[in-house]
Amino acid sequence: MAAEAVNPFDTAREQIDIVADLLGLDGGVREVLRHPKRELTVSFPVRMDGGDLEVFTGFRVEYNMARGPCKGGIRFHPGVTLDEVRALAAWMTWKCAVVNIPYGGAKGGVVVDPARLSRGELERLTRRYATEISPIIGPEMDIPAPDVNTDSQTMAWIIDTYSMQKGFAVPGVVTGKPVSLGGSEGRGDATGRGVACVIREGARDAGVRVRDASVAIQGFGNVGGATARILHDEQHARIVAISDVRGGIYRREGLDPHAVEAHRNATGSVVGFPGTTPVSNDALLELAVDILVPAALENQITARNADRIQAKIIGEGANGPTLPAADQILFEKKVVVLPDVLANAGGVTVSYFEWAQNIEGYYWSLETVNERLNEVMVRSYSAIRDLGRERQVHLRTAAYILAFDRVVEAMRARGTYP
Ligand code: NAD
Repeated sequence: MAAEAVNPFDTAREQIDIVADLLGLDGGVREVLRHPKRELTVSFPVRMDGGDLEVFTGFRVEYNMARGPCKGGIRFHPGVTLDEVRALAAWMTWKCAVVNIPYGGAKGGVVVDPARLSRGELERLTRRYATEISPIIGPEMDIPAPDVNTDSQTMAWIIDTYSMQKGFAVPGVVTGKPVSLGGSEGRGDATGRGVACVIREGARDAGVRVRDASVAIQGFGNVGGATARILHDEQHARIVAISDVRGGIYRREGLDPHAVEAHRNATGSVVGFPGTTPVSNDALLELAVDILVPAALENQITARNADRIQAKIIGEGANGPTLPAADQILFEKKVVVLPDVLANAGGVTVSYFEWAQNIEGYYWSLETVNERLNEVMVRSYSAIRDLGRERQVHLRTAAYILAFDRVVEAMRARGTYP
């Protein structure tokens, strides 16, 4: 995928500046919003299966904790940089404020291609990284969760590592853990469920019928997979294109995401699914579809291709898939962009439910989790839509206005220490 080589933290800061200008935020407050509060860079050795030591680099960035403990996933990817983690941590801050859950934002990452590691190597890397960042994580401080190439098993290793060091069980140190360790029902699909929910709401307002609407999904992992299944099973949309890191597939009549998932599990990729024609990740973005869901990585929709996007609705499953210049082009083309800080906030919302259930020691049914998730997503979407209409701005700017109001209010209430 030919992602444009843009530094995501430059994007994050450009977005902050646009909204700070609109709100007339004074210099000091604006500078606080432009800076991460705390950053940790760690280098650590891992014993590889062959006996050699290999040194890896990881990061944890806590961006802003005015509204509560920091929250954000951990990414394992060869392209991870400190600036990418900073951007993702900033976006987590705005996202938690958008859905009004009592968290600040954080993110972590390790520069590694996990496909290259054995399971044992991956476990040792995870445990050592967890140990290296353990001084700054904890249920009341900073609570990691899964992101690209990490999952509930990664979270289970982190719980065990952290608990061994403390001498007692600390399941609340992460969310997105297995249900057997205190995870929440519904967390696995929560991000995709939130994306599907916001698409349903946005489509209704845009006069697009989701039933039989054509949908293209870039990235078929946790987020893209669940979004595809839920749009297909519950909203009866026609998923015509799906891709992963190796390429994409297209079928005009529609795909059964369950069958594609089975093929991916058996072969390692969606590519080669019978009865489909190949489509590149770049071409997928420009297909003549009603709904487009970028659910892979940053920097996909840029000033270069925004004009060729044909979708009426874009539901951002991924974080940072659209650059600010593209936002403006899409707004002028009247494409409805459901921004990441709203559209993919279902994951952190159910992470919050999980954290609350851990504290309460009382566990909710899947129906309760999904019902409460739906409520949060509908309420947040409606608030942003109304603000967008009122201020004549696109939904990302509206979401940022809402988020900045909440973060800045918390900062002002605390005052400046000392
Ligand atoms: P994942 O590792 O489960 O899946 C990633 C998918 O993207 C895979 O199908 C992979 O093959 C594909 N992919 C990776 N690199 C690609 C490339 N260069 N081109 C095309 N496809 C590529 O990750 P995920 O958890 O589904 O995360 C996807 C996006 O959603 C990320 O931007 C992440 O930050 C965001 N997100 C995740 C969550 C969550 O709860 N997991 C929550 C909010 C946002």
